[in-house]
Amino acid sequence: MAKAVDRKKQNRLLLIIVAVISVVTLATAAVLFALNYVDSGVYPESSATPKNVILLIGDGMGENHIEAGNIYRSNKLNMERFGVIGEVMTRSLTPGATDSAAAATAMATGVKTYNGRISYKDGKNLETIAEMAKEAGKKVGIVVTKPVTDATPAAFVSHAKDRGDTAEIARQIVDFGLDVLFGLTDEAMDALKGEIPSDTRDLCTSFNEIAGSSKESVYGLLDDGAIQTVGSNTLNSLTGTALKKLSANNENGFLLIVEGSKIDSASHDNDMESMLAELTAFDAAVSTCRNWAQENGETVVMVTADHETGGLKIPKFEDTDSGTAKQNAREALTDYATSNGWFTKTGHTSANVKYFIYATGSELAQPAAPAEGEEPKTEYLEINYSVKMDIPEEIDNTDIFRLLSQWLLH
Ligand SMILES: [Zn+2]
Repeated sequence: MAKAVDRKKQNRLLLIIVAVISVVTLATAAVLFALNYVDSGVYPESSATPKNVILLIGDGMGENHIEAGNIYRSNKLNMERFGVIGEVMTRSLTPGATDSAAAATAMATGVKTYNGRISYKDGKNLETIAEMAKEAGKKVGIVVTKPVTDATPAAFVSHAKDRGDTAEIARQIVDFGLDVLFGLTDEAMDALKGEIPSDTRDLCTSFNEIAGSSKESVYGLLDDGAIQTVGSNTLNSLTGTALKKLSANNENGFLLIVEGSKIDSASHDNDMESMLAELTAFDAAVSTCRNWAQENGETVVMVTADHETGGLKIPKFEDTDSGTAKQNAREALTDYATSNGWFTKTGHTSANVKYFIYATGSELAQPAAPAEGEEPKTEYLEINYSVKMDIPEEIDNTDIFRLLSQWLLH
């Protein structure tokens, strides 16, 4: 009898211990998952073997920013018309939301790091896709709407423990030897302008100078305010020039990185009107890249964001007597006193962002066997193929590096 009671007690104790261990393990796993990146071990695959790759990054452009753009345009944005669409997880190794430095590092190197780091982790520089592309004989170009030493462009072509070390970043940008560099200048870049080799590169300080440049390699280091959201001095026009310069007499192909840098700052300011202006200017550059890729036939275009900024929430709209849901939504969106309030934060969030991929290709196919009595055909036919994209709907930002390297370094 006493033994049976003992066993019962033992069993209960065992159960309690098992329960406690389970709860602690589950809670730890949940906390780790919430705070940190856990590598799923599942990576995307793409059989595309393009010559050129264009990566467009909307800084701070969350899913609802894109939805706001759709409402504003009363139509889908250009990026929303791409063939392959999914979501990207953006967390860095720093708990909370990522910053642009860690997010760009993940995209450029495939490695998660801490906020503030520029392709750098634990005392080591991380090799970037731009460095690998250059090593493989590809041209590399960067087009941004903020200073070229900012975190997003910096992470592709430089390494720093601190994103604020713009003197060091500028030094490395100049040493990298980009083929095309368009963006704003700053003190750090101004100090090094004299060191950009003028025999091979045209250094321009205005849109006019850029338009007049005949060199294949051109740098446009512009003053704040020079890049506008409408008219002829836009991100879109710089992107068009970059495509022309990078593709001229280039057998090996290129990597072009384009950033709509100010979608982020407008969202930090909870300024819907500026956000929409920056977003639609960015989407115009997306359209230019897509059309160029379609014509070129050997180019993959990927559009994504580094993180969401502003915790943007869009209310649901219904049909009313005064208008359809679509009309009502647009009216509320363009009443900025109202829609500025749709931003729920002034900082970054860890919401997933979206990715969009556009790819075309063509290859030489063997001609069909000749019919009886027919001369064999000697000409190979060029056929278009639709690129196989075995990419999960939800990827991690480090997977963007994996895709870029599969595409560029095949
Ligand atoms: Zn930001």
